[in-house]
Amino acid sequence: MTKPLITGKTKILGVIGHPVEHSLSPLMHNAALAQMVEDIAQLGLDYVYLPFPIEPQNLAVAIAGFAAVGVVGFNVTIPHKQAIIPLLSEISPLAQSVGAVNTVTRQNNQWVGTNTDVEGFIVPLQTTYHQDWSQKIAVILGNGGAARAVVAGCHQLGFAEIHIVGRNHEKLTAFRNSWSNSPLNENLQVHEWLELPKLIPQADLLVNTTPIGMYPKINDSPLSAEEMSSLSPNAIAYDLIYIPQPTQFLQQAQKQGAITIDGLEMLVQQGVAALKIWLQREAIPVDVMRQALRKHLGLDM
Ligand code: NAP
Repeated sequence: MTKPLITGKTKILGVIGHPVEHSLSPLMHNAALAQMVEDIAQLGLDYVYLPFPIEPQNLAVAIAGFAAVGVVGFNVTIPHKQAIIPLLSEISPLAQSVGAVNTVTRQNNQWVGTNTDVEGFIVPLQTTYHQDWSQKIAVILGNGGAARAVVAGCHQLGFAEIHIVGRNHEKLTAFRNSWSNSPLNENLQVHEWLELPKLIPQADLLVNTTPIGMYPKINDSPLSAEEMSSLSPNAIAYDLIYIPQPTQFLQQAQKQGAITIDGLEMLVQQGVAALKIWLQREAIPVDVMRQALRKHLGLDM
């Protein structure tokens, strides 16, 4: 892989967060940019992708500074995904309905925000399984930030019913109410954890958006073996977690004969979608991004 060459013409991309040191985005994006270096240099463009640790109280001044130094675009991670919204001139309807922005781009001297987590979530489903989802039922475990992108993704795919399962009654009610003015209000229902035995057998798609089972607690699963035993072998189990691979949740689903998807491809695809926006080009070296992550995470040993 060619190392990116920083020149006087190099343009800046990046990710803002606090903390941001753990982010895998610089690794993944710089691998893609290095691969494209000759390609995009022909267009007179070269880019570098940097991590920017920005404390919440410095967000507004940082964004103004980004405009001043000509930053082309940036990703947004915790804790700025909602806080960035009032600082943008425009946000996409998708980001509006998710209530969070993860990708910002500079257009006509203005900051425009969108949410590529939704595309990141749906691309692995669309590319692997060409299904008509209009008669299908999605059951989503957890009602945090990632669950919002998953709900929007399931709606975009056309799921007939979307069921959210959470452990906290107040948070579930707030989650439910936050979609009341949205077109997906009609097919969204929220449930408490004890309703799982009724919901699992109906699920065509079962998604884990909780952090249960994430490294280092690799033996944990959001479902008991008994709960998972009612999952249909025709179902798809999708875990947003990407370390370990497979998670306990996906191992249980595999035992049922279900199709499984881990969270790595979502991470890759939300990055691909962001690069397409910033570079205004469709050809992104997705294999290079995937391989850079797999190597870094020790998944190809
Ligand atoms: P979050 O906003 O903190 O939401 C986590 C959700 O899980 C909350 O609803 C929380 O419930 C629930 N939860 C946590 N522990 C639980 C437990 N023991 N029992 C039942 N429910 C529990 O986090 P997030 O940003 O949505 O991220 C969630 C997971 O998705 C993380 O593992 C993250 O790494 C992964 N993720 C992956 C990608 C990807 O690209 N693959 C993208 C985004 C996120 P309460 O609300 O009641 O606390």
